[in-house]
Order: sequence, then structure tokens, then C-alpha cells
Amino acid sequence: MIVTRFAPSPTGELHLGHAHSALFAHGEARRAGGRFILRIEDIDRTRCRAEFTDAILVDLAWLGLDWEQPVRRQSEHFDDYRSALARLEGEGLLYPCFCTRKDIAREVEAAGHAPHGPDGPLYPGTCRALSAAERAERIAAGEAYALRLDTAEARHRTGKLAWSDREAGLVVARPELFGDVVLARKDTPASYHLSVTVDDALQGITLVTRGVDLFEATHIHRLLQALLDLPTPAYAHHRLLLDEQGRRLAKRDKALTLRSLSEAGRSADDVRRMAGFA
Ligand code: GLU
Repeated sequence: MIVTRFAPSPTGELHLGHAHSALFAHGEARRAGGRFILRIEDIDRTRCRAEFTDAILVDLAWLGLDWEQPVRRQSEHFDDYRSALARLEGEGLLYPCFCTRKDIAREVEAAGHAPHGPDGPLYPGTCRALSAAERAERIAAGEAYALRLDTAEARHRTGKLAWSDREAGLVVARPELFGDVVLARKDTPASYHLSVTVDDALQGITLVTRGVDLFEATHIHRLLQALLDLPTPAYAHHRLLLDEQGRRLAKRDKALTLRSLSEAGRSADDVRRMAGFA
């Protein structure tokens, strides 16, 4: 049975690009007689707002989508992410990182030629080298810290990994592209990479569909699946809708939110067509 999901972050109103993504996931499930799940990815309390969540539900229903209840809101499930972190920590794969963005920028500049990954310069590993005593001391002193994955060690333990991608075929996972990613942030006790991987498994997603802008993130998700003994879904990374200048749609494109389009008199059928689904 095919199970797909649309997993928006409620940081703004849905635009045509989101409609494309939601219709893609919904269509894949419906075509195969499968299940379609909506998940609200709202762990970031500084950027997510409850009114955007409400608006997402209204806009998707207007667009003609239906989904299973209850809708999982990630902000209600920090315990699940905490247990995943505890497991990785128990296996010695995490370390506390006290660095601020400034510290990291300074280190990277000093190194002169820091390697870059899909999310920018790789973390130079400063806090990986701290002694257990120093870590304990700084934590006891109340210093804020993130938890990072020791990616090289994790990789060493799992060996070679791959996933099956509809467009790209069999892809060999290269999580080292990201360096030591943050799995729990200083201000949020989880990160996107961790929560999305845990939830896709908990919700029994068999086909992860999302924009090709998140293709590279799958390298990390595949590693986390192996470390946490989670199943690996199939992946389909779809194209992104572009504006007239060829840029991907974003929050600045106010005229292309589902809300504005509907207020401008467009029907749900029109919007489905504009989003690439006749
Ligand atoms: N919440 C993510 C976003 O809105 C999407 C996560 C995913 O589909 O993996 O960009």
C-alpha cells in the first residue's frame, strides 16, 4: 500500500509551489489506491504560527484535497524526537556543540578553504574535540548547546547506503556532504533532519514526495534511518515551480498564494491547472 504525505511548515501562506507539492503527493496516493497524510512541521516555534496552520488546512480543503485524521503536528511530539536522540547519544554518535554562528564563521574564515555542503560551509568540528570534562563543565555552567551528529563515525558504523529515487534511480548516500549536522538545536530540541526522518517512519510513509530542493537532504535522512533501524521509503523529488524571472516561488510572491488567487476570482480548478495538474 502506497502511503504519501505533504509536510508543510506553517511559516507563511501556501503558494502555487506548495499546491504543486501537495497535489503531487495526493495524486500519487490516490492513483495507487493508497493513503495520503498531512503533517504540520512546526517544531520551529520562532517561525511557525498557529494561524498559518489553520490557513493551510482551509487552503488545502479548498483545493479539493482530503487527508487522514488526526493531522500530526510535530510540536506535539518532541518526546519521539527526544527518544531518537537518546538512542544516538547512547551509541556515542552525538556531541554537544556550543558554537555560535559567529564562532563558526570565524573558524571557517581562519581555515581559508572550508569545504562547502548543500547548506553552506561545513561545520569545522570545533566542539567534537572537547574533552568529556570540558563538555560537562560548560553544560553545568548553563551554556546553550546544540547536538551534532558525528557523521564520519556514524558512516563508519553503517557502511555503504543507498536509496531508490524515481528520477535519479538508485542513489548512493553521501551524508558526509553535510558534515556534522545539527540534530537538536539550541532553541528547539530537534531539527528538520531528525523530525522528518522519525515521522516518515512512525507514520508508515512508503513514498516520500517533495521538491527537488530537498533532494540532498535525503543523504542525511538515509543515514539516520540506518542508525535508528527505520525502514527506507522510496523517494520522488519533483520539479519546482518558477516565477517569471525563473526563480523558485517563495513567500515574496504574495500574488501567487492560494488565498490571493482565490480572492482574485480563480477557482480551485484554475489553481490546480496553474500548479501543473489539469
Ligand atoms: N517541512 C518541509 C518544508 O516545508 C518539507 C519537509 C519534507 O517534505 O521533507 O520545506
